[in-house]
Amino acid sequence: MAHAVADLRSILTTDALDTAARDDVLRFLTGVGDLYRQVEATLVIGTGVIEKRSASAERFDVSSDCRSANEVLQRTTGAAPTTVKRWSRLSSTIKPERTLASGEVRAAEFPALREALTTGAIGADGLEAATRPLREIKDRVDPADLAEVDDVLAAMATTSGAPVMCDTLRDASLRLATELDITGPELEEEQAMRGRSLRIGVKRNGLVPIQGNLMVETAGALSVLLDSINNPHGKPAGVKFRPSDGEDDSTDVRTMAQRNHDALATILAAVPGAPDLPLNGGNAPVLVIHATEETVRTGAGWASIPGADGTGTDVPVPFAAAEHVGCCGTVQRLASAANGKIIKLTVASRVFNTDQRRVIIARDRSCVIPGCHTPARWCEIHHVTEWANGGKTDVSNGVLICWHHHRFLERMGWAIRMNDGVPEVRPPDWIDPIQAWHPTGPRAVARPKRGA
Ligand SMILES: [Zn+2]
Repeated sequence: MAHAVADLRSILTTDALDTAARDDVLRFLTGVGDLYRQVEATLVIGTGVIEKRSASAERFDVSSDCRSANEVLQRTTGAAPTTVKRWSRLSSTIKPERTLASGEVRAAEFPALREALTTGAIGADGLEAATRPLREIKDRVDPADLAEVDDVLAAMATTSGAPVMCDTLRDASLRLATELDITGPELEEEQAMRGRSLRIGVKRNGLVPIQGNLMVETAGALSVLLDSINNPHGKPAGVKFRPSDGEDDSTDVRTMAQRNHDALATILAAVPGAPDLPLNGGNAPVLVIHATEETVRTGAGWASIPGADGTGTDVPVPFAAAEHVGCCGTVQRLASAANGKIIKLTVASRVFNTDQRRVIIARDRSCVIPGCHTPARWCEIHHVTEWANGGKTDVSNGVLICWHHHRFLERMGWAIRMNDGVPEVRPPDWIDPIQAWHPTGPRAVARPKRGA
């Protein structure tokens, strides 16, 4: 392993890395890293040379039977066109001093970072990290200041024997660029004012795409809310019934993107209840879902939400969505006969009032699904016995539950019941093969009662 880099082929064709001591592996990787940065530097500088010679009377590309300098590099190195484009962009970032046709001498750009590249202190990633924030501002700041930043960043990369991490370079470059860029804030404000947007697309495969560009503070406000819903105690969510056996039985299988979606849904469900929102025809803006009497009776098939997507028309949605929104009271449910005549309008009767909500919060504290931890203020109240089946809007029939667990409760295989006025849950069989009912909330630490 000691002379590993010189003998890469033998390393790659044997299990030498699998069996080597840790220090040897680290030394080997450090050596390969040195080599990697030098190779990248050569390709970046080389790309600049091939492009220059292709643009000159020599026509390096044409005389090599290629249509472009990019193709020359693809053919000679096996790299993808996008990789060659990246080398090209980086090489143009660090142009050497040159004499133009007019005789004018153009100063080198980022000469110190160029030297850090050519001496192998940084590779393509390091160069990109260091120069990207500076490329944006270089035309509106004093060249002398820019040269100073170039020196500082190059020194960061060369003073230590170990390679500097790209994130360190990027952070430093961004910080220095921000300090230099005095006109930046005004310019950015103008760009943000023009560019801000949020568009709701057209439903496809059961989903409605959204697209847009948020202003930084808007994105920040959203991020704070998403974080507070997704990770209220800084702990990963997951069900733990056997805390002492050391097994990782975390069951929240949602991706981060899915969790963000559910958190946004949670926020949107909370908004209509906020005071002083603009009214819509004298009422708080509520989501209206249409379903036929037949659909409501069978609990299956399609419902529709008027104006849910960018088309502004009635958008079909599985009845499960109607059942969920119909349970928590920020909606009206409209049942109509086949001829379109409205036969049932469901609204206030299934909304838990403030006093009831307060009592339920005191009892359940957070989402009743174990391990969820979504705080009470972000929870909905679920009718344990469905309103349609005669369940009352009463504290003895309402439990705190987060948007995600409410929406997919049955699909995920959870069951909830009230036992002597307190909620109990039964997990899906893949979480709890015994299928016991478990107490919830502050009582969840107690042992589960088998089949009780
Ligand atoms: Zn939950």
